[in-house]
Amino acid sequence: MLRSLNRRFLANGCHCALWLATVFAMLSLSALPPSAQNQPLRVIAFGAHPDDCDQGAGGLAAKYAALGHKVKFVSITNGDAGHQSQHGEELANRRRAEAQEAGRRIGIEYEVLDNHDGKLLPNLEVREQVIREIRQWKADIVIAPRPNDYHPDHRYTGVLVQDASYMVIVPSLVADTPALARNPVFLYYSDRFTRPQPFRADIVVSIDDVFEKKIAMLDAHVSQFYEWLPWTVGQFEQVPKDPAERKKWLASTPMAARKLQPEWREALEKRYGPQAAARTQHAEAFEITEYGRQPTEEEIRMLFPFFSQTALHP
Ligand SMILES: [Zn+2]
Repeated sequence: MLRSLNRRFLANGCHCALWLATVFAMLSLSALPPSAQNQPLRVIAFGAHPDDCDQGAGGLAAKYAALGHKVKFVSITNGDAGHQSQHGEELANRRRAEAQEAGRRIGIEYEVLDNHDGKLLPNLEVREQVIREIRQWKADIVIAPRPNDYHPDHRYTGVLVQDASYMVIVPSLVADTPALARNPVFLYYSDRFTRPQPFRADIVVSIDDVFEKKIAMLDAHVSQFYEWLPWTVGQFEQVPKDPAERKKWLASTPMAARKLQPEWREALEKRYGPQAAARTQHAEAFEITEYGRQPTEEEIRMLFPFFSQTALHP
């Protein structure tokens, strides 16, 4: 936008008042998020295991990637424990390869850190890994689980990102990686846990237009969605053997389907318009944490450049 403004001014002969107006416009825009300056947004999401980010924000990531924004998923553990017959390095290598493939399918980066699965602790070493990741990515948005969850790795991933959420702007800490100039907006994935308080849907994004992409992403995590998770709930024998059939089966499971929840409707319709809930099947919801930058409604609409598209896919 600025470039075209400049070109127009130059074409008309650069009048001093117009030049000043341009400078003021640049100054005011520099305080706005990157999307307002025609730069890609930078989003980083953390999960405990190499499929957690995908479940909570795979659709959102696919939407950002389709618009040319930059997304990175980071698994804080290498997933080397969650399987009924494989474990250790063999499993970690398999899960890392699956994560790479999942990221490739929707056009985002995917990194798997080498902390052991099932043994994650919110210690200083891992906190510093998280701070480096957020700083190196120059994140505008950071997504993580809430620290209330059945799995200790999920809980501690929430704690670790919470613990990093102010430190990313403190230059004397983790001094090998330049601190961010301003705190990102930190979000929680949705979850079903109610104590000490239930998840609050502040931002709800329809993912109907990218649902197939999200399922393609989840489908890359063969060891998780077709082997380990079904095994933990006694459904391993029910998973179809044929790759196309099992993908269809995956799309029908609640964990993959992410159906719009009744308590998400209000936030959805706030930004997509009245009756949007009736047209929306699949969605992802996020809560704004109190520990990062608190975005205004105007900034939310810049950070989530999806809401102006009022025509939802039926
Ligand atoms: Zn997990």
